[in-house]
Amino acid sequence: MAIRENTISIIGAGISGIICALTLAKSKACKNSSIKVYEHKKRVGGRAHAVKVNDHFVDLGAGRFSSQLHHNVKEQVTSLNLPYEAFPFTQLKRPQALHKSLKSILKNLKPLCDEHPNDSFEEFLTIYVGRHQAKEMINALGYDSLSLPNISPHIAFDIIEKHPEIQGFSENAGYEWFNLKEGFSALTQRLYEEALSHGVEFHFGYELASIDAKGSNPSLKLVKEDDSELTISEGEMILTFPPTAMKKLDCGFPEDWSDYTYGSIPLFKGFLFYDTPWWQELDLADHVVITNNPIRKLYFKDNRYVFFYTDSDYADFWRDTTLRGEAHYLSTVKTLMAEALRCHESQLPDPLTHTYKHWTHGVEFSQECCPNHPMTLTHKKSHIISASDAYTPHCGWMEGGIMAGRSAANTLLKRLESEQFQRQRNEELAHV
Ligand SMILES: Cc1cc2nc3c(=O)[nH]c(=O)nc-3n(C[C@H](O)[C@H](O)[C@H](O)COP(=O)(O)OP(=O)(O)OC[C@H]3O[C@@H](n4cnc5c(N)ncnc54)[C@H](O)[C@@H]3O)c2cc1C
Repeated sequence: MAIRENTISIIGAGISGIICALTLAKSKACKNSSIKVYEHKKRVGGRAHAVKVNDHFVDLGAGRFSSQLHHNVKEQVTSLNLPYEAFPFTQLKRPQALHKSLKSILKNLKPLCDEHPNDSFEEFLTIYVGRHQAKEMINALGYDSLSLPNISPHIAFDIIEKHPEIQGFSENAGYEWFNLKEGFSALTQRLYEEALSHGVEFHFGYELASIDAKGSNPSLKLVKEDDSELTISEGEMILTFPPTAMKKLDCGFPEDWSDYTYGSIPLFKGFLFYDTPWWQELDLADHVVITNNPIRKLYFKDNRYVFFYTDSDYADFWRDTTLRGEAHYLSTVKTLMAEALRCHESQLPDPLTHTYKHWTHGVEFSQECCPNHPMTLTHKKSHIISASDAYTPHCGWMEGGIMAGRSAANTLLKRLESEQFQRQRNEELAHV
């Protein structure tokens, strides 16, 4: 089956794909276009994925936003009237000894970042505070990506300032954070419904398997679950998925698309539901504990549930633990949770139920972290557009996804406008 002209094919139905489709569908220039979104999975939302367990919505992926940092998300949530509540995890309970001095140490070190553009954050810290203290500081911050060789001092300070659990060690200490009462899927679902009402077509279960972008007439080959194929060789093409998925397509990514290189970090979230909120007695409700063990960040959501969130090597540690079976996973969680709370594991009840998710490429980003990175990439020969939160100043955030979707749509609209202008000029010239 081939697709007729005047169609715009968008691949990926995460927040960036839906926003892109919606922006185009609402534009004058695309009034007569047919906008089609193809998505590999059976649902919209991508890395925004909420599920309902034990009567509670939990975000397995994207989970919180800040009204100071994420203006586009806040605007969407407010205009769609989506119920939201405080994401209260900006205060650490049971601080480690180092937590008391961490803010002043980081404040003194921040002005020195410019002198170390090519060092990793860990190397940078080691120069000023010694290897042992550098490791202790990263441990106390609870985000293990901070020790990766491709995390520069500038990126690290950005991470510290823009994450609710550790923003208290920066000047952003008072920033407010929220989560959607029905999870972030409520946002993508509502935007999807709005896109449908504007005539956008969604096709689920289609995986983009290859791109032929060598000539000036590109084509996309999509494969459906039943192994049937769809080739798109006409119209406009926009890819709204992250760099690791681009790399899989053998389409010369990144060299033929970008001057930058890209990295990703795995993430893991585990949720536990109990018949009684035993943590209330320990005065832990609505607090987060940064632990010295693989649990890393342990959150107690009012009287509802407990969850932990890890990145980098510890995300893979938990994936490996789940692969050894549910009983092994749950007993490891219990042992490490007891250790973190300095109690005996017999004092902790067993959960009624639980859920978890490992994301192999949870966060995607440009390794150069350059403010001049274009928000949209265009293939050097074929003009296929690629958009991702990873290309924006808000990589790793829904805010970046919204910015990416709008930017991709605007890139196409500008191109259509200039083609239209060129056509009119040619017609005028033909009449002279
Ligand atoms: C565990 C976790 C926690 C997070 N926490 C937060 C948070 O608290 N706050 C926040 O704002 N953000 C958070 N994020 C980040 C946020 O989820 C992303 O920034 C956002 O989802 C990016 O949207 P996107 O549309 O650009 O990409 P994605 O959400 O990745 O969507 C891409 C879509 O493309 C599809 N796709 C990929 N390849 C193909 C293919 N070959 N063919 C067809 N379809 C394809 C995918 O199935 C997916 O649906 C978190 C992410 C994770 C994983």
